Amino acid sequence: MKNTFLIAIMLFSVISIFSSCKDDDTDTPCTETTWYEDADGDGLGNPDSSQEACDQPEGYVADNTDPDDTSCAETTWYEDADGDGLGNPNVSQEACEQPEGYVADNTDTDEGGSSLTVIDVDEALFLADGTDFTITTVDCTLSDGTVTICYQIVTNGVPTDHDMGPWCPNNIADGADAGGIWLEGGEVYDVDGAFIENMATFYGDNTWLMYDGNGDIYTTDTEEDCGNAANPNVGEEYQNFCVECLPSYVTDLTQTYLIPVTPVRLDTPVDFAMMGPMGGDGPSVRGLAFNGVRFDAAAPTDAILGAYTLAPFDDAGGHINLAAGYHYHAATGVSTTIDQTDGHAGMIGYAMDGHAIYARLDANGEEPTDLDECRGHYDDIRGYHYHVDAAGNNNFINCLGGAYAN
Ligand SMILES: [Zn+2]
Ligand SMILES: [Zn+2]
Repeated sequence: MKNTFLIAIMLFSVISIFSSCKDDDTDTPCTETTWYEDADGDGLGNPDSSQEACDQPEGYVADNTDPDDTSCAETTWYEDADGDGLGNPNVSQEACEQPEGYVADNTDTDEGGSSLTVIDVDEALFLADGTDFTITTVDCTLSDGTVTICYQIVTNGVPTDHDMGPWCPNNIADGADAGGIWLEGGEVYDVDGAFIENMATFYGDNTWLMYDGNGDIYTTDTEEDCGNAANPNVGEEYQNFCVECLPSYVTDLTQTYLIPVTPVRLDTPVDFAMMGPMGGDGPSVRGLAFNGVRFDAAAPTDAILGAYTLAPFDDAGGHINLAAGYHYHAATGVSTTIDQTDGHAGMIGYAMDGHAIYARLDANGEEPTDLDECRGHYDDIRGYHYHVDAAGNNNFINCLGGAYAN
């Protein structure tokens, strides 16, 4: 027994010496265990992908109970419906392996062959009457060079779905129904008698005094006054006037608009034209309501106020000037709205690129959270479309996501 024990010790020593000579390092012996891949990083390992090791390898765990470990890193794949090797940034799925018809690229914004929904302008939604408000189709070329067909919309700008005015109350004792609204700092204010009475306080400037000793409010009352008071370089004689241009001043006006029948998305949005060096190349008109009234560029409220005039909007968000006729600066929900059956916000008109414009809030009173820089987004029912800005912001949409008719 003793000999056997000694032999065993000697044998062990020889093995140890041999072993350390061979490895020439100081590692202590270890017991290898099985480690399971945790590709999705949830701490649970994939039972079908393992390795033996003493120490836990990077990306592996001892657990082997992950039922859905893909043993790969999922990446985003973009639909390439037109087979040009470029993927559609708006249609994607996550997968380990490249799905059929999908590519890693996401730079294809060409609609050709895309499965994206594109909705044509529905001519029948406009309240055209065939005389004062007509719609015909004409050949047209869009801003991106697309040669296509446009609706040519000719209107006298008179809404047939609601009254125009009132704008200026007569006396500081008048209630809200005697006047329109004013937009300031994102808020909509009723222009009632009290608003006029309170203007010096509201704007922190005692120059404001828009009424006489009887409380009667100074209001333009001729076409000439309307034209003069609306001039940015208004004379001092029009200071402290409420500017009210009446429908009777603009009965001879007609406006002609071109809107592509089929909207064409662009890689880069089109900025609207504005006065001054910051203006974009696009149109200044944002779009049209179904009654043919334009959703116009922001009212120059700073210039209006700087001249100590007030040019209120009526409750529909519109007012009149001699060049443009009746036009909107805010969407207040008064003009025709097409309700949607799925709880989506109602449709209020079309932008100049032929994409539809919807109200800001859905049936639950909520604004979409995924709007792009133009205030647009996409769904499969409506295609690309806009949601209008809050009325108090003196704005509708921020840019055009599609080409407009030149
Ligand atoms: Zn205006
Ligand atoms: Zn929407």
